[in-house]
Amino acid sequence: MHSFDLNTTLAFQPAETIRKEQERLLNEQIRYCRKHSPFYREALAHLPEKEIRIEELPTLPLTTKHDVHEHNEHFIAVEQKEIADIVFTSGTTGRPCKIIYTLSDLQRIAYSDATGFRSTGMTSEDTALITCTLDRCFIAGLAYSMGTVKLGGAIIRNGLNTLDSHADIIKNNNVTAIVGVPSFVAKLADFLTAKHIDITRIKHILCIGESLHNRDMSRTPLAQKLENYWPGCIYSTYASSEVTTSYTECEQRFGGHPAPDLGILEIIDDHGNPLPPGEVGEVVITPLKLEGMPLLRFRTGDISFMIDEPCSCGRNTVRLGPILTRKAQMLKVKGTTLYPANFFNVLDQIDGIDNYYMEVSGDSLSDVIDLYISFNYGDMESLEVKQKLLTNTRVNVNLHTVSCEAAHRKVFGSTRKPLRFFDLRNI
Ligand SMILES: [Zn+2]
Repeated sequence: MHSFDLNTTLAFQPAETIRKEQERLLNEQIRYCRKHSPFYREALAHLPEKEIRIEELPTLPLTTKHDVHEHNEHFIAVEQKEIADIVFTSGTTGRPCKIIYTLSDLQRIAYSDATGFRSTGMTSEDTALITCTLDRCFIAGLAYSMGTVKLGGAIIRNGLNTLDSHADIIKNNNVTAIVGVPSFVAKLADFLTAKHIDITRIKHILCIGESLHNRDMSRTPLAQKLENYWPGCIYSTYASSEVTTSYTECEQRFGGHPAPDLGILEIIDDHGNPLPPGEVGEVVITPLKLEGMPLLRFRTGDISFMIDEPCSCGRNTVRLGPILTRKAQMLKVKGTTLYPANFFNVLDQIDGIDNYYMEVSGDSLSDVIDLYISFNYGDMESLEVKQKLLTNTRVNVNLHTVSCEAAHRKVFGSTRKPLRFFDLRNI
């Protein structure tokens, strides 16, 4: 049984000490995979059974989401009686992909998020309002809740409820932290302010699913909006159902720290080669101390970069930058690579816009981008939407006005997270 001690000081040890401990845990994880994971027993069969150094990690094969979907049962490394929690993610193969966690894995999740939340300055005195769901197989909602409880704090699991309902809770309880999707929390902040509800007791906004920083680490318009409501209180946290190792910003709010005994981070280029800190590529994580479905060099499909300078908070772990996009959402327009965020950041700065989503179609040469926008007031013309997009992206896109109801249905309709990107490309 692994230990998950919240009082460990590993993150504050010298980088070399962290590296040594990660190396020890990596070899332990590889041995565990060879012994218990049918997938890795086969995938590693051609490699010599010897201890490796962290620098030799790239000699191990990468694991893709597709591998996990295609060979789903072969990733399960424990007997049925050891399984404690089962979730399903949408599969690349058309059938749902199963991910399982043991009791130890759930304790690991609690430790991972408690460590992250503590690095934001949260303590056992805090009460966190959880505005994301715990059901529909959403492991993250469970993770934030368990993390807060492990930290000694209290949770209010109001989930995907109405603005009115969240406002009532905030008004009548000593809520000091909110966990949620930043675009939703921004709407909640507007609502609370309009109702003259005191928001000054809330000191921690833990943001999930949407980035707070751009490539140059400047704040996104959404982050700036939240920052105006809660100066110095906005933190980003990132994880995935597969690796369940969270990267949460400390009080410096400049990239996310992990619990260093839970994962090794790599950034790779399109050919799978490791990239140095600062360079943008795909996030690859090897989770450590994972029991139910261990993974080696898991390609998350998310695009970001690594920050390895020492952090003034005193933690010596490498940090993960903002998620700039998902690899599958990169756009190619007339030879230029763009991200949906290039467009979304512009729209987030236009006040009259209520909601929006993007559809991308076309062939392998160039993408065709259609943006559907709903308005609280004004319209495409009076708010100069086309011009503002063109000035910032240098790309002409097709714009369509839709009703607030239609936009809301599309964005929040079928998923537990807001979905603003719809890929209709034939590739
Ligand atoms: Zn830090």
